Amino acid sequence: MKAIRRFTVRTVLPAVLQELDELAQNLRWSWHGPTRDLFERLDPEVWRDVKGDPAALLGALTPDKLDRLAADPEVVDAVHAAAADLRTYLTAPRWYQGAGDDLPEAIAYFSPEFGITTVLPQYSGGLGILAGDHLKSASDLGVPIVGVGLLYGAGYFVQSLTRDGWQVEDYPLLDPDNLPITLLREDDGLPARVSLPLPGGRTLHAHVWMAAVGRVPLLLLDSNIPENDDLARKVTDRLYGGGGEHRLQQELLLGVGGVRALRLWSRLTGAPAPEVYHTNEGHAGFLGVERIAELVGDHGLTFDEALEAVRSATVFTTHTPVPAGIDRFGTDTISQYFGGSNEIPGVPLDRILALGAEDYEGGDPTVFNMAVMGLRLGGRANGVSLLHGEVSRGMFNGLWSGFDESEVPIGSVTNGVHAPTWVDRRLSELAEDRFTPEELEDATGWLRPDGVSDAELWSVRRELRSQTVEDARRRLRASWRLRGASPAELGWVDDALSPDVLTIGFARRVPTYKRLTLMLRDPERLKALLLHPERPVQLIIAGKSHPADDQGKRLIQQLVRFTDDPEVRHRIVFLPNYDIGMAQMLYPGCDVWLNNPLRPLEACGTSGMKAALNGGLNLSILDGWWDEWFDGENGWAIPTADGVEDADRRDDLEAAALYDLVESQVAARFYDRDEFGVPKHWMQQVRHTLATLGPKVQATRMVADYVERLYAPAARAGRRLNAPDHSGARDLARWKSTVRGDWAHVRVDHVDSEGLGEAPKVGDRLAVKAYVSLGGLSPEDVDVQIVHGRVLETDEMSSFVTESLAPVETYEDGRHAFGGEVVLEASGPFGYTVRIVPRHAGLANVAELGLVANA
Ligand SMILES: *Cc1c(COP(=O)(O)O)cnc(C)c1O
Repeated sequence: MKAIRRFTVRTVLPAVLQELDELAQNLRWSWHGPTRDLFERLDPEVWRDVKGDPAALLGALTPDKLDRLAADPEVVDAVHAAAADLRTYLTAPRWYQGAGDDLPEAIAYFSPEFGITTVLPQYSGGLGILAGDHLKSASDLGVPIVGVGLLYGAGYFVQSLTRDGWQVEDYPLLDPDNLPITLLREDDGLPARVSLPLPGGRTLHAHVWMAAVGRVPLLLLDSNIPENDDLARKVTDRLYGGGGEHRLQQELLLGVGGVRALRLWSRLTGAPAPEVYHTNEGHAGFLGVERIAELVGDHGLTFDEALEAVRSATVFTTHTPVPAGIDRFGTDTISQYFGGSNEIPGVPLDRILALGAEDYEGGDPTVFNMAVMGLRLGGRANGVSLLHGEVSRGMFNGLWSGFDESEVPIGSVTNGVHAPTWVDRRLSELAEDRFTPEELEDATGWLRPDGVSDAELWSVRRELRSQTVEDARRRLRASWRLRGASPAELGWVDDALSPDVLTIGFARRVPTYKRLTLMLRDPERLKALLLHPERPVQLIIAGKSHPADDQGKRLIQQLVRFTDDPEVRHRIVFLPNYDIGMAQMLYPGCDVWLNNPLRPLEACGTSGMKAALNGGLNLSILDGWWDEWFDGENGWAIPTADGVEDADRRDDLEAAALYDLVESQVAARFYDRDEFGVPKHWMQQVRHTLATLGPKVQATRMVADYVERLYAPAARAGRRLNAPDHSGARDLARWKSTVRGDWAHVRVDHVDSEGLGEAPKVGDRLAVKAYVSLGGLSPEDVDVQIVHGRVLETDEMSSFVTESLAPVETYEDGRHAFGGEVVLEASGPFGYTVRIVPRHAGLANVAELGLVANA
C-alpha cells in the first residue's frame, strides 16, 4: 500500500460555533482552564479520549453532534463569551504597554525547542519548557515577542521500557495538519518559503508554520517539503537527533533561516521587524551572521560596522556550565558552509571562523564553539541563576583574560515558571476565591490563617497527592502492559502508592550530573525509609535519557530494577515518558521535590519551582536557583561535599546526608500531627513557601527582568547605532579599530600618591596621580581607573571598586597625567592599583574590547 495519498479532512463547524476554531488554534487554552472547560463540555467522553486536545476534539465531533451543539443556546453563548474573552486577552493593554516609552517594538526569541503543551511536542527538557514559559509569560505581560524555532517531524522521542528496564525510544511522526499551527502563505496562497545554500551546490528549503501562543506568534521552520532532496527533508526530522552535520544544518536553518522567516513574516503580516534578538543558548547563533550579511549586502556596511550594529541589539543566554553541553563543530565543517562558493560577499569566512574560535588558553584551535560565538555576537549575555552567572564568568574568563573574573560581562537572570501552566487549578481557584489580587501579587495572602485554614489547605494538598497517585497508578499499569505483563499479574498496582504517605518526587532528564541513582547509594537504607512502619516515604521518579547516552540508560535500568522488587514496588515507582502532561499531574501532588545534582552543574533547574508554586517543599543540593532562594524555612538543603575529589566518596557522603535529612527532619515533621491530623509545622513551611517563593519563581518576574535589564538597554543601544543610516555603528567600528591599533602604545608609566601618614585610618584620603602614555589616543578615549579594595593573603584583591581618575595635565608625545582621591572606607588590609581601559558611550561594559593596560 505504498502509493497511499493522504490528506486531512477538516471539520466544517456550524457558523454559530465558528469561533471554536479560533479558540482551538490559539494555545492560550493550554493555560486557561475556562477555555478547556468549554471544550470538555462539548463532549466529555471524546475530550477524555483525545487527551485534552481541542483540535482533535473538534475533528472527532460528528456533524450530527455539531448540529445539536449549534442548536443549544447555552453552548452557543458560552462559545461567544469565551471567544470575546480571548479577543480581550489578545488586544487589551497589559503590563508592557505601561512599562516605559522607549521599549522595543518587537523582540525575536530564538530557541531550538519550545515546550508549550503536550499537544505540540517540540521539546526535550528544561530548555524547551523554559522557552515555552517565556513566551506564555511574555504574552501575559503584553511583551511583543516573536518566537523562532524548528518544527520537528517527530519531536523528541516517546520513552517506554523493556521487561528488563532498558529505555526504548519511539518516534511517532507528527502530522502538521493535525497540530494547532497554520502555514505562513504568500498573498497568492502558496506556502511562503525560505531557502539557504548548502555545500556542493545544494539548497535547503523550509516552510514556516505559525503557532499562536496567546499574543505571541511562534514561527517554526519545517524542511520536510517536496522542494527538498531526501537528505534536506530530514534536517528537521528529530530534535537533537543526529550529531555533527545534521545538528549543524538544524542550527543553520534555525539561525539563518529563522531571520529570513522573520523577514517573510513582517512582509506578509505587516508586523514590525524585531529591534532586539535574544538567543536561548548558542544553538541559534548563526542568526547574527545572517544579520551581518543583511547589513553588508543591503546597507553597504563593512563587516566590522555590521558586527557592531548586530552586537548592540543581541542578547545571549547561556544555559550550561557543562562544557559537553555546548555545541562545537569542526572548523573544516564550518568552512564548507561559509567558504568556497558559499562565501557571502563582504562576509569573509575567516571572520566567521574568528567568531567561534577558541583562541584562548586551553582552547582547541580545530573547533568552532557556538557559545563563544554567542558571547562575541551578543552585546549582552547572562546565565540563568546567580550561581550560574558566577560559574559562567569563571568558565569564559579566557575570552576576557586581562580582566578579573568578576568583570567578565556575563550577568544573570534567574529562570522562572509560568504559574497558570503549572499550578493545579484546585489551588489557584482557592487562592482567587480567598485573596485579593494584591495579596496574590505579593502572595501575602497565604500567610493569613483566616484566608485559608491549615486544615483546609492540608485537605487540598491531600486531594492533589491523591490525584498524583491515581495518575501514577494508571501510568504504571500501562507501562507494565507494554513490558509484557498480563492484567492478572497487575493486581498489586491498585495499591501501589498511597494518598496518605509522604510523597517525594524526582523527575528530570538523566544526564550523569543529575545523579538519578544517588538515592540507591545504600539500598538497605533506602528500603528502610520506604518501609518505615510509622513514617513511610514513597518516591515517584521519571526521566528520559538522551538516546545516544547508554550510561544514562543504565542508570534508568538500575533504578527500574530496584522499583520492580515486590518488597518495595508499592512505595517506589518509575514512570516512563516524562513530558508536560505527566509533569502537570506530578508536581502538585508531591509533598517534597528532590534534586541532587553535582554542584554546581545545574544551571538553574525549574521543576522545584513548579513544585513550590503548588505548596511542595524542596529538598535539594544548594545548586542553581535553590542556592539563591533557600532560606531555611522553605525546604531543606542537602549538604554538599564540595571539594571532595573522589567522586564515589562524594556520592557516599551526599547520599548519607540525604537519608539523614529525610528520616530525621522531613518524615519526622510530615508525620508530626495535631489532634485533627494536621502537621502544623509542615503547613507553616508550606504557607511560607507559597508566600515567599510564589512571586519570585514566576516567569512573569523573569520576563520583566529581561525587559528591564536586557531588552530595553539592547534596544536603546541598537537605535543609537542603527539610526539614521547606521552612522553610530560606523563611528563605533572606526573608533574601536583606532583604539585596537593604538593600544600597544597605551601604558601606565608611573603612579604617585600622597596624603596617608604612617598609620592610615578609616576616613583618610589617598590622593593618586597617574602618569600615562596614550599613543595617538586622546584622554577622552580612555578611562584611567584606580582599582582599590581589600587585599587577601594571596596578594589578590577581593571585592574591589574602580573609580575614574580625571585628566589633569597633558605633556608631549601622548603623555598625560590623571588624578583623583580615594577615601579609605573600611579597616583592614588595603591595596590599590591603576589601569587604563577604553571608554566610549557605545560600549556595553568595561571589558567589551578585552583591552586593558595595567600598572
Ligand atoms: C520543568 C520541566 C523540566 C525541567 O526541569 P529541571 O528541574 O530544570 O530539570 C523538564 N521536563 C519537563 C517535562 C518539565 O516540566
